[in-house]
Amino acid sequence: MTSPRFDRQVRFAALGAGGQERLERSSVLIVGCGALGGSLAMTLVRSGIGRVVLVDRDVVELSNLPRQVLFEERHLGHAKVQAAAESLARIGGPTRVEAHALHLDSDNLAELAQGCELVLDGTDNLATRYLINDFAIDRGVPWIYGGVVGASGLVMPVIPGAGACLRCIFPDPAPPGSLPTCDSAGVLLPAVSAIAALQAGAALRWLGSDAHGRATFQAQLIELDVWQLEAHHVPATRDPDCPCCGRREFPFLDASPHGSAISLCGRNTVQIRPARVPGARPDLERIAQSLAPFVSDARLLDGLLVFRVEELAFTVFPDGRALIEGTSELDRARSLYDRILGS
Ligand SMILES: [Zn+2]
Repeated sequence: MTSPRFDRQVRFAALGAGGQERLERSSVLIVGCGALGGSLAMTLVRSGIGRVVLVDRDVVELSNLPRQVLFEERHLGHAKVQAAAESLARIGGPTRVEAHALHLDSDNLAELAQGCELVLDGTDNLATRYLINDFAIDRGVPWIYGGVVGASGLVMPVIPGAGACLRCIFPDPAPPGSLPTCDSAGVLLPAVSAIAALQAGAALRWLGSDAHGRATFQAQLIELDVWQLEAHHVPATRDPDCPCCGRREFPFLDASPHGSAISLCGRNTVQIRPARVPGARPDLERIAQSLAPFVSDARLLDGLLVFRVEELAFTVFPDGRALIEGTSELDRARSLYDRILGS
């Protein structure tokens, strides 16, 4: 018997009582609980998912509040996962929420995802998405990619063994700084809500379906824009020679997480190495131009890109490696790097 709380979901015939019971037995990992992740967590908890595991490395900032629906002014400076867990607890319902305030990496992903039959992407960076994709294909766990910048975004459910994976469509991560980020191009809540709604709809359908229903689930890539009021499907066919789902190479999962960010002893400096494929190099000159309105003194100096942001001095090398002076906090440095250079 399902609770009267979920009566209107049970009345939705495609889900029904059997689907609702499946939702209440399911476990989901949500990576990131800011804009997309917060909307996803709220929807899953309200829908009665059995267990939701949240992981996020950031703290709540003032500029998050226009689009990150679980946070209020009183949460400023608090770890996002703790603030999110508190807001989700106020909804009530049967969901068990587990909160982990840490940076997801190749060392801790398997443990965090233990028992989860689905991974939802609420991250703000490509490196983590390629890591999730490697993990999902290697372990046969579905995940749902979502990304938003400005007023538009992309959604793509990845079902291992049935359709394309992330690397079939985007074989390699774009070089750092080559794509717009929410820090450079801004972002609107309606775009976040729309993308999160499509991700959550796909999640409920997957989790609420029996084996027969899951077999009919078609993975596809959807692009939409809430400013232009446009939505369309983008062809997303599986590449038989895909390095990930075709050749089963998992470089992002195999990479040592300790190489990606290290605190340089005694220098109050963190070094970041972006996840990238050899040969892909950032265009530092173009990045310097795009950063100029947002950070102080962005300029090229002997082939290196230097600028200051939040009292920290960045030096970016031609291979994308960066030294961030003024902090020894790995997560803060890595988070700023991802936000500004869009790794
Ligand atoms: Zn693939």
